[in-house]
Amino acid sequence: MKQLARFSMGIGDRFGHQGKAQLAALAEAKRLGCTIIPVWNKSYREHSIIHTDPKQVRREADEAVAALGWTEAYHVDADHISLKTVDLFLDSSDFYTLDVADYTGKAADESSIGSFVSKYRPLIGNLTIPGINTPLKISEESLYAVARKYLLAVQEAGKLYRHIAAQKGAENVITEVSMDETDLPQKPEDLLFILAMIADEKIPAQTIAPKFSGRFNKGVDYAGDLAQFEREFNEDILVIAYAVQEFGLPRNLKLSVHSGSDKFSIYPAIKKALYTHNAGLHLKTAGTTWLEELIGLASAGGSALALAKQIYREAYHRFDELCLPYATVIDIKRDRLPAPDTVDTWDGETYAASLRHVETDPRYNPDFRQLLHVGYKVAAELGETYLKALEAHEDHIGAQVKENLLDRHIRQIFIQ
Ligand SMILES: [Zn+2]
Repeated sequence: MKQLARFSMGIGDRFGHQGKAQLAALAEAKRLGCTIIPVWNKSYREHSIIHTDPKQVRREADEAVAALGWTEAYHVDADHISLKTVDLFLDSSDFYTLDVADYTGKAADESSIGSFVSKYRPLIGNLTIPGINTPLKISEESLYAVARKYLLAVQEAGKLYRHIAAQKGAENVITEVSMDETDLPQKPEDLLFILAMIADEKIPAQTIAPKFSGRFNKGVDYAGDLAQFEREFNEDILVIAYAVQEFGLPRNLKLSVHSGSDKFSIYPAIKKALYTHNAGLHLKTAGTTWLEELIGLASAGGSALALAKQIYREAYHRFDELCLPYATVIDIKRDRLPAPDTVDTWDGETYAASLRHVETDPRYNPDFRQLLHVGYKVAAELGETYLKALEAHEDHIGAQVKENLLDRHIRQIFIQ
């Protein structure tokens, strides 16, 4: 089986132009002694909004790797796929994120729920997980509840996995199971039994993306109880270690954090947990790379700045349409958005500082940032005009992309 390394990062970008700059950040991390494997990812949702296809992601990855002489592994992720969308990704991807959110909360048939509960009945009572102080309390009711909520979803993930393995060969794929887009967070005890179900379906998951407590909005910092997050994150790591032993899952199984960019306030807790437990991590970023393009264009000034302003004006007027596909993962206060006429008076540095995620800068505006984050459709519609601007200002933009990934992300999470 293809093995995913201890540390990996989901990278990639809307328009397929920043692969080299992103990989340059990982190459620098490697020089600093920390090898992080790049995984280019793009979801079906993103492809369909922007009219790209998975082959282009593979091409971007291959080209960046060749240009930088990267000799470590790299992968291409079919992110958040289902049976309806997977076939488009079969040629180009070797990493598959099986999304089961559509089926969570729908109950499996009674006989499979019954056999799940009887199989795991021996765990009822106080279950001690090495490293967790308070034993998990498992009851017959909690077993039924977790089975009703997740068993059908994991059975569907099993079907999807077997479909992929039949086409590609099981040894050629890395599998992730994602539950981050479900309605409620999964507690460590839920995660334990979800992992049991994954093992029962014989899905060789190497990463699992639970939904953590708190909000992981796109492009902005974490919002929630930091102490609770830290406790859960550590317990999830320990539950995974236990499940690997008890249920025979792949030894390198690790957590995957989605919408992982910009969650600055939880990075110290994540880093501490990784090194305390000698655990791995897959961190998905990517979506915010396009904001670094806008920052680069704005700071270039002239017609590039004018283009960045034009994109904001359009996004401002198409607020509802642009926000709708991301309604559950953004939180924009409309009255805090600057009027486009005001933005038109800004110089490049003001635009860049309003957008750049530096919370200590009084000009930083998270509402402006979130709207532009979902506004990539506007840039996509500009077509060649936008892409030509990216090419003309490649140096400016590449420096922003690399600095953002290396200094604000990689150093904070991975480098000791
Ligand atoms: Zn996700």
